[in-house]
Amino acid sequence: MAQQDYDVVVIGAGPAGYVAAIRCAQLGLKTACIDRWRDDAGKERLGGTCLNVGCIPSKALLESSELYEHTRKHLGTHGVHVGDVELDLAGMMSRKDRLIGNLTQGIQGLFKANKVTWLKGQGQLQGERKVCFTSHDGKEEILEPEHIILAPGSHSVELKCAPYDGKYIVDSTGALAFDEVPKRLGVIGGGVIGLELGSVWRRLGSEVVVLEAQDRFLSFCDDQVSQEALKIFGKQGLDIRLSARVTDTQVDEDKGTVTVMYEDEQGRHEERFDRLVVCVGRRPSTDGLVSGPVELLIDERGAIHVDDHCKTTLPNVYAVGDAVRGPMLAHKGSEEGVMVAERIAGMGSTLNYETIPSVIYTLPEIAWVGKTEQELKNKGIPYSVGVFPFAASGRARAMEDTTGFVKLLAHADTDRLLGAHVISSRASELIAECVIALEFGASSEDLGRTVFAHPTLSEAVHEAALATLGHPLHIPPGKKG
Ligand SMILES: Cc1cc2nc3c(=O)[nH]c(=O)nc-3n(C[C@H](O)[C@H](O)[C@H](O)COP(=O)(O)OP(=O)(O)OC[C@H]3O[C@@H](n4cnc5c(N)ncnc54)[C@H](O)[C@@H]3O)c2cc1C
Repeated sequence: MAQQDYDVVVIGAGPAGYVAAIRCAQLGLKTACIDRWRDDAGKERLGGTCLNVGCIPSKALLESSELYEHTRKHLGTHGVHVGDVELDLAGMMSRKDRLIGNLTQGIQGLFKANKVTWLKGQGQLQGERKVCFTSHDGKEEILEPEHIILAPGSHSVELKCAPYDGKYIVDSTGALAFDEVPKRLGVIGGGVIGLELGSVWRRLGSEVVVLEAQDRFLSFCDDQVSQEALKIFGKQGLDIRLSARVTDTQVDEDKGTVTVMYEDEQGRHEERFDRLVVCVGRRPSTDGLVSGPVELLIDERGAIHVDDHCKTTLPNVYAVGDAVRGPMLAHKGSEEGVMVAERIAGMGSTLNYETIPSVIYTLPEIAWVGKTEQELKNKGIPYSVGVFPFAASGRARAMEDTTGFVKLLAHADTDRLLGAHVISSRASELIAECVIALEFGASSEDLGRTVFAHPTLSEAVHEAALATLGHPLHIPPGKKG
């Protein structure tokens, strides 16, 4: 039966798709959102990767594990002494699961309130204006909306030499649900997800080895930040091995272990772990998204080709989020969703891809926006740099957490801010003020002349701006962080 009355059909209810759907509905468009996600118990869930097995569960476990470690190791400094601190892993996991349950229900509530129709099942593009919806119980329906937004997201890349078995070798989803703390945990991939998950389990008691194929640590971060991070994580006990290319793995069911073979500059090595997490990247989930002779251009990585406004090669078909070019970040997908919804409604919305912040939620956190120092050097852009260490921050000292620094980069001629890099406790929050500054085209002088509350961690941004101008107040001028 053909049903023609939706203005917009969105495929995928992750942060890109569900936000697009809500914004469409706010703008008066009759909207349906198709999603096939079901949890282990078979219950349909909105929120996609981010909510169910990504951003939220990882942050929940990072928070809990941080509290556990903090209570065990650092409360004494404040004169607070507790007895033996006990880990209730099942309790920690059920808090995470409750949180996910509440938040997915929250989206359900928002769909209801905004009158977005949630279609539970599979969506497939079958032509310019045709979507085949197959419900979980197998019923097919052809929808013919005016506009289609594809937001199918991404999934973990599997390594041939380390295939997932759901028990010993797992992806990030498996590592968010271990039912005991592995004694030795191997992590393949020293990127954002590998470091976050490695941190969780190290804090809970695992001996963690991170095997990273690249010779540079966090190569996408500012060099000064990645060097500092490598030192700090090493001191915390994360054993990070660079230039380590995994060649093979062997599971031994009897011993309950997995052996990893890898090569580096010194030769071949073997390491035995109780569990192995593979976090080597994610790939767009576009398999089976399109059927028939539909001329939707999909590149060799599986990403849907789009222009700056997320228009695909088909009229009235848009694509947003992890399934298209750009960083695989929830907030990037959501903002693309908003842009597309508004463009469908006739507005001229755009998205500034130059000011999308990135965050790694380790401790310290690492956050950045704009250009790195090495990028500016490579492009021959003249710049000035200002660094302010948290060791000189009164608030950080009161918090007993003085690790890290703020680093700002400004154009040497115009003083316009070009990049901001923060490694510290709550860097994820501090970066927001830098994002606003870059978005508004601020100069470091603009930030230097802004009043920041005292004592706050945010003063470090103010001081870094003053340092860029050569006259910080709370460190000797000319001192490099
Ligand atoms: C462990 C982990 C931690 C992360 N932490 C962060 C973080 O802290 N911050 C951050 O910004 N990002 C983080 N990310 C990345 C973030 O989760 C993604 O960038 C984000 O989820 C992408 O949103 P999306 O809507 O494009 O896709 P997804 O969230 O992947 O959602 C896609 C949805 O589409 C559905 N779908 C796909 N194909 C079809 C189809 N044919 N029919 C019906 N439904 C379909 C899927 O079921 C899914 O629900 C993390 C990722 C992981 C794995």
